[in-house]
Amino acid sequence: MTIDRRGFIKLGLGGFLLPVVGCGRPAPVIEERAFVFGTLVDVSLATEDQNRAASAIRSVMEGFQWMNRDWHAWKPGALTELNRAIARGEAMETLPSIVALIQSSSELWRTSQGLFNPAIGKLVTLWGFHDDEMPSGALPDPSLVQALVAQAPVISDLVVDGRRVSSRNRALELDFGGHAKGVALDWALDSLATSGCTDAIVNLGGNLAAIGSRGGRAWRIGVKHPQGEGVIAAVEAQGREAVVTSGSYERYREYEGVRYPHIIDPRSGRPTQHVASATIIHPKASVADGAATALVVAGTKHWPEVANSMGLREVMVIDDDGDVQLSKAMVQRVRFMGSAPRSVQVVDSV
Ligand code: AMP
Ligand code: MG
Repeated sequence: MTIDRRGFIKLGLGGFLLPVVGCGRPAPVIEERAFVFGTLVDVSLATEDQNRAASAIRSVMEGFQWMNRDWHAWKPGALTELNRAIARGEAMETLPSIVALIQSSSELWRTSQGLFNPAIGKLVTLWGFHDDEMPSGALPDPSLVQALVAQAPVISDLVVDGRRVSSRNRALELDFGGHAKGVALDWALDSLATSGCTDAIVNLGGNLAAIGSRGGRAWRIGVKHPQGEGVIAAVEAQGREAVVTSGSYERYREYEGVRYPHIIDPRSGRPTQHVASATIIHPKASVADGAATALVVAGTKHWPEVANSMGLREVMVIDDDGDVQLSKAMVQRVRFMGSAPRSVQVVDSV
């Protein structure tokens, strides 16, 4: 654990914590880092109470460990067991936390017009993304991709009765990789608040969620530049809020000079193109997470329609050329840092 009485900067994937601004000495921060969910996790609390902070952080880190174990998309655990039962055409009793994920992701699937689809685990496997290492060889056989698209697994194929889950479609494989970190962030803030920690920020692999402030000054979050190093924009968290970024630059495979990112368009069965990153500010990290993934799929022209159907207000989309699009409400929230983006367009319809 480190106690930082000055400002501090930490690098992450989608976003990271920036020093607070203002005069006077900022409140002390108690901070702990760990490697969970295949990514760097960072919990920071603005408090003088070291004992309370240590035990609250420990509970959060333990929670992240069990979520990672129970919800992992390919390492053996409760979710892979359920996926195997589904593939056999059998019903199975699963964990309450997995039932809750099915429920919350069903809603995201519906509002995203099917672009957020956690039932496409078989496509994610076929493209080689169910692995810590990205594959380097040839792309999957297009006829196999088409066969999975034709089977059209969707979350509404599931039949849930209490903890008992079965699927009408045996091609369905659950993968909560686009949603679980957000759920974990919401849980972490609830857990910290229950422990009496009113001022905290949690960074789960570049997705951040904050409550309160650092000695009355807003937590400042830097959104990583999808094309270059460093920060493209800073956001000040207001109360309880999450800043979540999905990017095609985080995890991808490359073949013959072309990048194939880990987010898949369920309609084509192929990795998405054109959107480099989508950043959402939302009171609920779980919604922001599913929505950011969905907007990457929606693409540079159609994201406003999907953002509206998901009830999003604060959205920033950056394309592969570095051109930035902002929703109207986002204009008030982001401050560009460093060299100005190539172009910034405000989208009136969101
Ligand atoms: P994120 O980083 O939140 O955008 O999540 C990306 C992860 O979500 C991928 O690594 C897959 O596990 C999963 N995924 C890929 N495509 C989709 C999709 N269209 N809908 C839901 N989850 C997806
Ligand atoms: Mg996501």
